[in-house]
Amino acid sequence: MKVKIKKQNRQKQIKYEIADDVKQLVLDIIEVLKLKHIDTNRLACVRSRNSKTKNTIARCHGTAKILQIAFNIKPHYVIEVISEKFDKLDKSEKIKVLIHELMHIPKNFGGGFRHHDFVNDNLVEKLYARYVNAKYMKEKYGLVVEKTKDI
Ligand SMILES: [Zn+2]
Repeated sequence: MKVKIKKQNRQKQIKYEIADDVKQLVLDIIEVLKLKHIDTNRLACVRSRNSKTKNTIARCHGTAKILQIAFNIKPHYVIEVISEKFDKLDKSEKIKVLIHELMHIPKNFGGGFRHHDFVNDNLVEKLYARYVNAKYMKEKYGLVVEKTKDI
């Protein structure tokens, strides 16, 4: 049966694709900031298009505890970037957005989240400064900055 859809109700479907470019950037941030609690094999980066969201640039998804139990799967995380918002940012802004999303992943990598009482602009700015500094020290002097305790 053919269904007629009124034009105003027709919405573009959200599309997802694996984002290797974002994953590369995320791997670099994890390496530079020494975020050793993040299992990069269980972290994927996905780019979405046609999302209806207005104020979101990126978001972090985790496997709910009940899914882990029900299907006997380990916790996994996905960082989703909203193509229309994320892609037009310059690199420093992209890095900050990705640091923000990575900070939502708790130390136990258990599938849950740290919330915005912890993940805030102050923390992100601090870590971004640390990232830039560590990157510079490594590239200029070959020095590796020690792991920090507060993240
Ligand atoms: Zn957030």
